[in-house]
Amino acid sequence: MTSDCWDKARGELFRVLGANNFSCWIEPLTLQSLHEETATIEAPTRFMRDWVSRNYSDQILRQLNAAGAHAARIDLRVAEQRPVAAHAPGAATEPKPRRNGRNGENGELLGAPLDGRFTFDSFVVGKPNELAHAAARRVAEGGPVTFNPLFLYGGVGLGKTHLMHAIAHELNARQPGLRVLYLSAEQFMYRFVLALRERQIMDFKELFRSVDVLMVDDVQFIAGKDSTQEEFFHTFNALVDQNKQIVISADRAPGEIKDLEERIRSRLQCGLVVDLHPTDYELRLGILQSKAETYRSQYPGLTLAHGVLEFLAHRITTNVRVLEGALTRLFAFASLVGREITLDLAQECLADILRASDRKVSIEEIQRKVAEHYNVRLSDLIGPKRVRTIARPRQIAMYLAKKMTTRSLPEIGRRFGGRDHTTIMHGIRKVEELKASDHQMAEDIDLLRRLLDA
Ligand code: ADP
Ligand code: MG
Repeated sequence: MTSDCWDKARGELFRVLGANNFSCWIEPLTLQSLHEETATIEAPTRFMRDWVSRNYSDQILRQLNAAGAHAARIDLRVAEQRPVAAHAPGAATEPKPRRNGRNGENGELLGAPLDGRFTFDSFVVGKPNELAHAAARRVAEGGPVTFNPLFLYGGVGLGKTHLMHAIAHELNARQPGLRVLYLSAEQFMYRFVLALRERQIMDFKELFRSVDVLMVDDVQFIAGKDSTQEEFFHTFNALVDQNKQIVISADRAPGEIKDLEERIRSRLQCGLVVDLHPTDYELRLGILQSKAETYRSQYPGLTLAHGVLEFLAHRITTNVRVLEGALTRLFAFASLVGREITLDLAQECLADILRASDRKVSIEEIQRKVAEHYNVRLSDLIGPKRVRTIARPRQIAMYLAKKMTTRSLPEIGRRFGGRDHTTIMHGIRKVEELKASDHQMAEDIDLLRRLLDA
C-alpha cells in the first residue's frame, strides 16, 4: 500500500514538476514509512532535504493523499551516511592556494583560485569599461539581486576576469559566510564530465545549486557542447529561481555565440548585458601609471623618464595583458642593466612587442580603400545591393577584413550592414576561389593589402 501510493504520487509529481525538477529533487527521495498520518521521507543530503522541504513538501503531501494515503504531515530526513569522497592525498597538510566556494559537504573544492591582484582597487576605470565596472561594483555590494545574470563581454585582455575576481574578493570580505563560486566554463564542463563518470551527478547538482553567487568565466567555451550546456542551463535556472546572483563572461555578446542553445541565449540576455570596449589612450595610460606606481616601490633605484608611458600607451593598443607584460619586462630589464628607463631603452627592450602591435587596420579603412579602388560608393559597399559590380568588391572587403583584422565573422557581419556571419564566410570563400583562377583579382587584392599595410 505504502509503495503503491508513493509510486502514484511520484508519477503525478513527474507530470506536475517536469522531468528535470523531478529527476533533481523527487527521484532521489525514498518513502520510508507512512505511519500515524506521518509520511517519513528520506533525502540523500541535508541540502536536498532543506530544498525539498522548502519547495516541494506541500505538493508531495497533496499527491500522496490524492494517491490514497492519509497523511497529515511529512517528515523529511537525511538518509544515513553515504560514503564520503576522500580528500586528495596530503590535502590536509599542504597549504592550499586561496580557493573560493567553500568546501562541499563531501570535502571537494569547487572553484578556481582567485588572483589576489585582481581587485577593484587595482582596476583602472575609463570610458571603455566604466559601465562594466559600475555593474560589477553593484553586484559586489551584495544587495538584493537587481539584474540576473550580469553578462560581461569583450575582447581578450580587457579585464573581464579581473572584474569577476574583484567581485568575489569584495563579496568575501563583506560577507564572509557567503558561498561565492568562481570558475571558468571549461572547469564547469570538466567537473560535470567527471561527475558523470564517477556517478556523482547528484553531488554535482547539489554543490552548484547551493552557492549564493555563481560566476562562470568564458562561457563561449560551452558552445556546441550539448550536455554541458543542458546542465549549465538547469544550474542557471535553479539559481535564478532562488534569486541567487549569477555573473557570466564571454568574449562576445550572447547573440553572437554560435552553437549556443536558443533558450540559454535568451536567458543570458534577460539580465544586464554590458561590454568592455577596446581600450582608449587615456585608459591605457592610466593603467600604465598605476602599474608603474607599484613597480617604483618594487625597484626603488629606478627612474622612469618622461614620455615613456605615453609612448607605450600610444603604441601598444592590442590589449591590457600585452601592455602590462611590456611594462614588467621594461622594469626587469632596466633593473638588470642598471639603466634609467628611457624611450631608447623601451624601444630596444620591447622591439618585438612594438613590432607586433604596429597599428592595425580597421574594417572601416578597408571598406573605404576598397570602395575607392573599385569606384563604388561606401554606402553601396555596405548596403544591400546585389549587382555584381558592387557585390564583388564587397566580398573582397570582407575577405580583407578577415585577413587583416582580428575581428570575428559576426563582428565583420555587423560592420557590413548587419549581415549574417555565414554570408561573410561565403564571401570570403568566394574570393579565395576566384583569387586562384583570376590573375587580375589576385593582383588587386595584393595591391589593396599593401596600400592598407602602409
Ligand atoms: P580578460 O579576462 O578580459 O581576457 P583579464 O581580466 O585577464 O582580461 O585582464 C588581463 C590583464 O589586464 C590582467 O592582468 C588585468 O589585471 C589587466 N587589466 C585589464 N583591464 C584592466 C584595468 N582596467 N585596470 C587594471 N588592470 C587591468
Ligand atoms: Mg579572462
